[in-house]
Amino acid sequence: MKLPIIAVIGRPNVGKSTLVNRIAGDQQAIVHDQPGITRDRTYRPGFWQDRNFQIVDTGGIVFDDEEAFLPLIREQAAIALNEAAVGIFVVDGKNGLSAADIEIAEWLRKQTVPIVVAVNKCESIDQGYVQAAEFWELGMGEPFPISAIHGSGTGDMLDQVIEHIPAIDNLTEDTTINVAIIGRPNVGKSSLLNALTGEQRAIVSPISGTTRDAIDTLVERNGQQYRLIDTAGIRRKKNVDYGAEFFSINRAFKAIRRSDVVLFVVDVLDGATEQDLKLAGRIIDEGRAVVVIANKWDAIEKDTYTINEYKKELQARLFFMEWADILFISAQTGQRVNKILDLVDQAAESHRRRVSTSVINEVIQEAVTWHSPPTNRQGRQGKIYYGTQVRNQPPTISLFVNDPKRFNDNYRRYIEKQFRKDLAFPGTPIRLVWRGKKVREIERGSSNRATKV
Ligand code: GDP
Ligand code: GDP
Repeated sequence: MKLPIIAVIGRPNVGKSTLVNRIAGDQQAIVHDQPGITRDRTYRPGFWQDRNFQIVDTGGIVFDDEEAFLPLIREQAAIALNEAAVGIFVVDGKNGLSAADIEIAEWLRKQTVPIVVAVNKCESIDQGYVQAAEFWELGMGEPFPISAIHGSGTGDMLDQVIEHIPAIDNLTEDTTINVAIIGRPNVGKSSLLNALTGEQRAIVSPISGTTRDAIDTLVERNGQQYRLIDTAGIRRKKNVDYGAEFFSINRAFKAIRRSDVVLFVVDVLDGATEQDLKLAGRIIDEGRAVVVIANKWDAIEKDTYTINEYKKELQARLFFMEWADILFISAQTGQRVNKILDLVDQAAESHRRRVSTSVINEVIQEAVTWHSPPTNRQGRQGKIYYGTQVRNQPPTISLFVNDPKRFNDNYRRYIEKQFRKDLAFPGTPIRLVWRGKKVREIERGSSNRATKV
């Protein structure tokens, strides 16, 4: 479980990033990207009293379209609020209440996340209360006068904020990687499980029809724990009406949903069959990371070129998951089985990865420079204002554009390819969500409805 998030919301220049710096101190950002690149939407760890949290500034990048500004701030805030336990609404006590503050407050009141109002730039404590008083008008409870620069008042404000943050004892970090072993009957799932665990915990049988329940096996390597979710052997249950296919497929789907990384097992003797492709499609629909395991490599007669030929053929069949590594193994002899968990680690890391808004926008700007967005029949060109990662597992990037319809499939694929090329997400699907700027009100939860490209 990740630490609860505090989202800092407000107009530009009210002092949001100063406040984040004040609260997080010089603690390292949780997002790690290439050094030397400024980040603007980083999650930084912080604590107050006995509560630990991550704090995130919601400042977004706006390219050159001023008119699109306010909805974009709202978008940013909505994204951050979506995953936050509590929000800090920062206003400028020196400038006083503004129309934009009122508009933001109106919108914030419709959200379900609790909000604490921080009236910033109140250096003088006496005057601060006077300056803060007019913000009662926002209708969001007590406004706290603070100075992000000096730190005064921030303690009282944080006391209020952490009321909405669970105590540290109630949080346990679950870093176990859930791995589902998925494939058609007889491709070697049980044998693979055995090879991975080095123990005879699963029953291997060449006879289709063995009855056994799913077993989760925990294995540990270099301090990392893996939960192997095994659906092998769950095939035909005797005297059960709904038949083998329904039962095993259903179990497989459940296992996929519980996993972070899927070991997608195919039999090299058969290649990727139609059934395999259906299963693969399902794994992608569920947004899981994947390592393709080409099993029974021992049973192939080969020379030095064979592996490349097989690899090419499998890659061609599985073109829609070209980002997944393919490993040729033998569960029976153990060949290359020791490489599997390395690829699982890599895929899990990509799957969990968060990339800062500034890095995403560098990729977009570069991509757009090389290959400008298409123009429609009326001569209007597509325009990408900015992008931001709205979630991980799998990495999902929202692109805020003037009109999604102006971006055809070709261009969308091009942009996705640039993200892959520049940021490298080995082993995981990534999703792009194209959103028009007309979207004014963003309901809570809307960013979860990712559409695939
Ligand atoms: P953001 O764009 O909302 O994140 O705002 P910044 O943190 O970048 O700050 C905007 C400006 O306000 C900067 O010039 C800061 O130095 C100034 N500022 C931030 N906090 C304070 C404060 O507590 N008191 C005063 N007087 N100025 C502040
Ligand atoms: P599951 O149905 O996917 O769990 O497949 P099993 O692990 O039960 O294996 C099915 C059959 O394939 C058994 O007869 C295994 O001995 C055989 N098998 C599994 N892995 C390998 C392998 O790496 N090489 C060869 N030659 N046979 C294998």
